[in-house]
Parts: sequence; C-alpha cells; structure tokens
Amino acid sequence: MMYGISQFGYLVASALFIFALHWMNTPATARKGVYAGVAATAIAIGVTWAEPSVVHHVWIVLAIAAGFAVGVPLSRVPLTAVPQRTALSHAFGGAAAGLVGTAEYYLQLSEAPAHLTAFRMVALIAEIILGYLTLTGSLMAAGKLQEVKWVPQRPVTYPMQNVINLLLFGVTLALATAVTMHPTAAWAPLTFPIIIAMALLFGVLLIIPIGGADMPTVIAILNSYAGLSAVAMGFAIDNKLLITAGALDGSSGLILAIIMCKAMNRSFTNVLFGAFGQVKPVKADGAEAKIYKSETVEGAAQVLEQASFVVIIPGYGMAVAQAQHKVRELYDQLKKRGITVKFAIHPVAGRMPGHMNVLLAEADIPYTDLVEMDEINPDMPQVDVALVVGANDVVNPAARTDKSSPIYGMPIIEADKARSVFAIKRSKNPGFAGIDNELYFSDRTWMLFGDAKNVIGELVKQLAGGMH
Ligand code: NDP
Repeated sequence: MMYGISQFGYLVASALFIFALHWMNTPATARKGVYAGVAATAIAIGVTWAEPSVVHHVWIVLAIAAGFAVGVPLSRVPLTAVPQRTALSHAFGGAAAGLVGTAEYYLQLSEAPAHLTAFRMVALIAEIILGYLTLTGSLMAAGKLQEVKWVPQRPVTYPMQNVINLLLFGVTLALATAVTMHPTAAWAPLTFPIIIAMALLFGVLLIIPIGGADMPTVIAILNSYAGLSAVAMGFAIDNKLLITAGALDGSSGLILAIIMCKAMNRSFTNVLFGAFGQVKPVKADGAEAKIYKSETVEGAAQVLEQASFVVIIPGYGMAVAQAQHKVRELYDQLKKRGITVKFAIHPVAGRMPGHMNVLLAEADIPYTDLVEMDEINPDMPQVDVALVVGANDVVNPAARTDKSSPIYGMPIIEADKARSVFAIKRSKNPGFAGIDNELYFSDRTWMLFGDAKNVIGELVKQLAGGMH
C-alpha cells in the first residue's frame, strides 16, 4: 500500500519536474516553474520519508535543518554571484551522490554482499566517480568565480596536462573495473577509497586549466555530471524518481552548455581542454595613443531626443550598477516621444545565462521589446543611437576582425554599425576578457563615463526636464 503511494508520489513529482523545466522557457511562466520544482522536491522528500523502511527520523530532521541553515543564506546572494552559488549547489549534489554511493557499497558489503551484482556495482562506481569529481570540480569553479585568493583565476597549465589527466582517468577506470568485477574481494573495500580520492583529484585537475570566462559553461557541464550521478544513484538504490530527475538535470545541463558554447563560438573540447583565458591580455594596436571622445549628459539627451530608433545594449555593468529601474525610466521617456526603443540581448551578456532578461523583467520592461542578437544585428545600420549600458566584450568588434583576440569568433551585437553610439562605463578598464574595445575609439562613439545608474538617472532628469 505504502509502496503504491510512494510510487504515485514519485510519478507526480516527475511530472512536476518536467513542467518546471517547461515553464522556465519564458519569463512569463518562470515563477510557476520554480514553484513546481519546489513542490516536486517536497513531494519526493515527503513520500520517501513516509516509507516504513525509513526509521531514523532524528537524522532526517537534522539533515533538513542543516539544509535550511546553508540554503537560506545561499538564497540571499546578489544576482551577480548566482553563477558561483549555482556551482556550490552542484557541489552539494555531487557530495550527496558520492556519499550515498559510498554508504550503499559498505552497507551492502556487510549486510547483503549478494546484492552487489555487476549491474549495481557499475551504477555505484559511476555514481561515486561522477559525484566526487563534481564535488571538487564545482568547488574549484565556485572559487574561481568568487575570486577566492588561494584558487588561481588564470588557467593553470603544464606540459602533457591532458595526457596526465587521461592517464589518471585510465588508472581510476582500471581500479573501478577491478572492484566492479570483485566487489567482495578482501582488497575491494580498501581500493574503494582510492577510487574516491582519484575522483576528487580528477575534479580539481579538470577545472584548473580552464579560465574564468569559461566557468559558466563548465558549471553547466558539471550540472550535467551531477545529474548523471543522480541517474546512477537511482539505478544503484533502485529509485525511479532519481533516474527521471537526474536525467532531466543531466540533459538540461548539457543543452545549456551547448547553447553557451555556440554563443561564444567555442567548441566543447575547446572549453574543456583549450585553456581559454590563458592568452595574455593585450591592448589593441596602439590603443594607448587612441582617444576616447566624451560626451556630456546634456549633449547625449539632445541626440537621444532627435532619434527615431534607439537600441539599448545592456551588459554586466548594468547588473553591477543595478541600473535596470533607471533604464526603465529612460525607456519610458523615449517611448513618450514616439521613439522606437529595443533592447539587444546577447546570450552571454552579464555573468550568467539570461542575466539581462532577469534584470529587465524585474524592471517590468515588456518582453516584446527584448530582441535577441541575431534578430537585431541586421537592423543595426538603421539604428540612430546604440546606447551601450555597461556592456563591453559583447559589443567588441575585435571578435569579428582580430584573429589574435581571445574573443575572436564570438558573435557580437554589432553596435559599431549604428549611426552613433553612446557607451556608459566608469573607467577605461577592459571588460571580462581583459582586452581593449575598438568600439570606444570609433568616430561614431561618445563615452558617458560614470556609474550606469547615475548616468542614466541624469539622462532621465534631462529628458524629463525638457518635456513640458
Ligand atoms: P564585460 O564584463 O565585458 O564588461 C562590463 C563592463 O561594464 C566593463 O567594461 C565595466 O567597465 C562596466 N561596468 C562595471 N560596473 C559598472 C557600473 N557600475 N557602471 C557602469 N559600467 C560598469 O560585460 P559584457 O556583458 O559585455 O560581457 C560579458 C562577458 O562575460 C563576456 O566576455 C562573457 O563571455 C563573459 N561571461 C558571461 C557569462 C554568462 O553566462 N553571461 C558567464 C561568465 C562570463 P568599467 O569597469 O570601466 O566601469
């Protein structure tokens, strides 16, 4: 009876997980998606807990309390820190899978060794290798993104790195195969911890050659490893919900990683083995000699008023300045004058996928005025003013023209093709990729130096003051 109820609960939870992902497709339903995911998790925990075989209730209460103690503060991190927060969540997921796999092996070994069939052992070994390497890999990724002092930010490379990694992986697989074939041999329980140690080490080695710029893609890949380890755990402990939820997690992580690779024009192998970001930041040729033209807010407001088509290109700086609400006010001012205003959204603008969409949705800017890069680029030559709000790499024409640039080949929003460009940033410092941006030196570009929230606020004041 209880079994039937728990299986039904798992079915409902699986369906809710699928709907949750589906609802995440658009900002309009994303909130519903989050609620569905929370409900699915609560149902899954509830029906599992109600199983008669679950008897250690105090431990479960303690575990849930620990989860709250960590989870509540984690939910309060600023939006700009969400990538590293996500990496930490994957680390916890990996740790959980690894620990469950370890406990399961030793438990079965002492209580029911006959249960350690070849099938279950393959699942267990896959679970612990993927789980533990996700743990250390995700911790390294979070450390890099948070710029923790003792985690090197730049890629760490050494001769024969990939060969050494492959060798290490080969040895781990050989040990894993031996334990899988002889799980009850006297040496197997002693070899198991060696496999765990190798997986932990492998997680670190896998991440150190990868630069900060590729971290979000790597996090998506680690997401998919965590999902796969949950699938393996589902097979190992015979739990169908874990198989479904893990498969959803694994495949969505992989799809996201592929989308991000495309947006940065990178191949998967290039991200994982390419040591991107290792290239020493170089100044564009003769950049020192080049001159920025500054504009005053008053001047920029006048030009904006005369425009009939304005494209706003937000980037990481808008997130740092939390300028989205002021941007909304500017949008309203321009719309009031009958000016066409569109937002050009680059898929990797900011520091996480969908970063700009989230911020602009928070400021209630209609989704219909958010235009994706591929759609807006053909219109750029007809744009009177491209207003760059704290974006840098995603509008850098070097991606199109400079083969030596670390961002060469990345598709960009072609702000340089607009009739005029205003670029808001605080200083002459480069963006995330550490390189200069020719756009800022172009004949058609005028800089509005300052914090994005202040500058846009001033622009709004000018426009509001000028309209009677
Ligand atoms: P960039 O990081 O290239 O540039 C941001 C610019 O914003 C900087 O030049 C900075 O200049 C300016 N800025 C920072 N703070 C402020 C502020 N308060 N007011 C005004 N300007 C400010 O951002 P992009 O969005 O153009 O590009 C994103 C980059 O991040 C790409 O290289 C992408 O590959 C990478 N990336 C993207 C991820 C994603 O998933 N979206 C994840 C990780 C990396 P200054 O300091 O002078 O103000």
